[in-house]
Amino acid sequence: MIISKFGGTSLSTADRIKILCKITEKGLDKRPILVVSAVSGVTDVLLDATFSLKNKPLSITKIRKIHNQLIKDLFNVKKQKEVSKYVDLKLNEVSRLLCKENYKKAEVDNIIAYGEIISSYIVTQALETFGIKAQQVVANNLIVTDDNFGSAEFLPALTQKKVIDVLEPITKKNIVPVVTGFMGSTKDGQITTLGRGGSDYSAAIIGFCLKASEVQIWTDVDGIFTADPKIAKNAKLLQQVSYKEASELAAFGAKVLHPRTIKPAIKAGIPVRVLNTLKPEGKGTLICDKPDLQNPITAISYKRKISLVNIYSTEMLFSKGFLARIFKEFAKHNISVDLVSVSEVSVSVTLENDENLDAGIKSLSKFSSVSSNKNLGMVSLIGEGIVTSSSTIRR
Ligand code: ADP
Ligand code: ASP
Ligand code: MG
Repeated sequence: MIISKFGGTSLSTADRIKILCKITEKGLDKRPILVVSAVSGVTDVLLDATFSLKNKPLSITKIRKIHNQLIKDLFNVKKQKEVSKYVDLKLNEVSRLLCKENYKKAEVDNIIAYGEIISSYIVTQALETFGIKAQQVVANNLIVTDDNFGSAEFLPALTQKKVIDVLEPITKKNIVPVVTGFMGSTKDGQITTLGRGGSDYSAAIIGFCLKASEVQIWTDVDGIFTADPKIAKNAKLLQQVSYKEASELAAFGAKVLHPRTIKPAIKAGIPVRVLNTLKPEGKGTLICDKPDLQNPITAISYKRKISLVNIYSTEMLFSKGFLARIFKEFAKHNISVDLVSVSEVSVSVTLENDENLDAGIKSLSKFSSVSSNKNLGMVSLIGEGIVTSSSTIRR
């Protein structure tokens, strides 16, 4: 069994969706399960609409236009009517939800998940039209998560049971499930999302639950490069990358993978392959346990909107448990730290701009002197060889 995740960029035109159908047909013997993102740009528009009621009419019009174009280019007139009916129904639901100025995080998740709900229906219908039996699966009854809305974490045991119960009967009937990426739900049924770009994570979660033989991430570039190929024109395609390097690359900004994708894959020992929908014959990049590593530095990534927090205290000198005290405060405020540097009297940490940071700094200031800079950028060198090669650092 393979899990094939198609990102928003792979669904942005009817031609791309037709390639998706061909890729699926070619891999039918591997019993594929598809995971799809929202069509490119749709999640951004939905999110904008939750910021201001003023944006709402334009947002709905924009989303309708994006999907109508796909429907027109993919289906005959009779089918167009059927598919449009579903899309209209869902857009009316979203429109009703967009009725006020300020939303709780749970309400935002409920709204932005509609991008995937609509795209998974269109892809299912496209596959059926292409002659492949397919069934839409909305993941609110599949991936069970905690209630950290906007960046929810899946609960492995509960999710595994649901994934097996829901997806196996479908694949046994030789029907291809088309699962909504990005979304899940809490134990009591409230819709959650897994963080921006989270459909990659959905694919890995399903792969983990079903012990898939491979998780494929189909996107708009040939695989993982030594740097973002849209920025560094001389970036080179990497044939293999280790799990650790892929995790770090993603965590330090490479958008090609959601940072949490690798964890379930490592746990289940599943290889992840990043492939280009526009060049399906390519081999892509294989992320696995023991790749053939050639260079100490594998890639360079960058991340924007970083905060740097410097914490000073003379109490740190020769004291025990001071660092623990600092990190307890970060944990208490649900703040996730990226990089740490420690000296005798100071600790510096970087983290993504975080709405809880001011409260965290206030708590830390009670026992240390704290300064911070927001909206910084960070460039990272990634490579398993870096730690074992001091000459790399010297160079
Ligand atoms: P999808 O819609 O398929 O999820 P994304 O836009 O989320 O696509 O991710 C693919 C993009 O990731 C590429 O278009 C590329 O610009 C960007 N990217 C950043 N760093 C890298 C890298 N090291 N290798 C490949 N792509 C990268
Ligand atoms: N549609 C979601 C986003 O734009 C999830 C994804 O694309 O993976 O963040
Ligand atoms: Mg993505």
